[in-house]
Amino acid sequence: PEAQLSLQQAPSEVKELAQTFNMLLSRLAESWEQERQFVSNVSHELRTPLTIVHGYLQSVLRRPSNLTPTQVEALETAAVEAEHTIRLLQDLLDLARADSGNLHFRMNPCVLNDLVAEVVGMAQKYSDRTILIESPNHPIEVKADYNRLKQVLLNLIDNAVKYSEADTSVIVSLQQQDKAAIIQVDDKGYGIPLQHQSRIFERFYRVDETRARSTGGSGLGLSIVKTLIEGMGGSVTVRSRLGEGSIFTISLPISPK
Ligand code: ADP
Repeated sequence: PEAQLSLQQAPSEVKELAQTFNMLLSRLAESWEQERQFVSNVSHELRTPLTIVHGYLQSVLRRPSNLTPTQVEALETAAVEAEHTIRLLQDLLDLARADSGNLHFRMNPCVLNDLVAEVVGMAQKYSDRTILIESPNHPIEVKADYNRLKQVLLNLIDNAVKYSEADTSVIVSLQQQDKAAIIQVDDKGYGIPLQHQSRIFERFYRVDETRARSTGGSGLGLSIVKTLIEGMGGSVTVRSRLGEGSIFTISLPISPK
């Protein structure tokens, strides 16, 4: 009879346990939401004044004749650091938006041949590296957010340039495989050890902290790439060999005709 009693009691105990568990879960969700809100507010509050500081630095640097070479150098360093931080804050804002389901995409037909040419042109402006395009003559079209896709590709090209020597080239290729458009960014750089490859898309994850820090990134680039590309219905993968180079592959579904 005792066993029966405890059995009879079990459901109410389980119920209580479930209630406690649910309460804990909703408190946890609440504190996650607060944390996300905090990151989002801080990023926003910091970005505005920093953008103003950056603007002033740029305008002073536009008249370098009033400055000594040491002053120019100091102001240029300050401007570069401000730019990096503005980008980091923008990335944090995007990730906070994605976490709360508020990252919206303007999905429109995009001709990838044009997008690749435009992004490579942009990247080439900031670096004297050779960036080659391999793209078919016929247009490959997908439905995507053009600006977000540009951001993705620019991030991957930026990394390919950062993590390779100046005398190697980067290849950006576009092709169609069945019902998918494939964009690849291929470098002959340092490569990524196998055990790190599944983790580089995590927030703030960096393989070689010293090298990564000197290149000025934040460790958020690839997590943004993954969030954006998956938000547009695609995927991103990496294939890499240490000392030989890396290939990042973006796949996006081709728009039905
Ligand atoms: P970061 O701002 O550090 O570049 P990312 O999220 O873009 O952050 O990349 C995460 C890490 O992945 C980098 O710190 C680097 O160690 C590695 N990585 C990314 N792209 C490449 C690449 N093309 N070649 C070698 N390593 C790379």
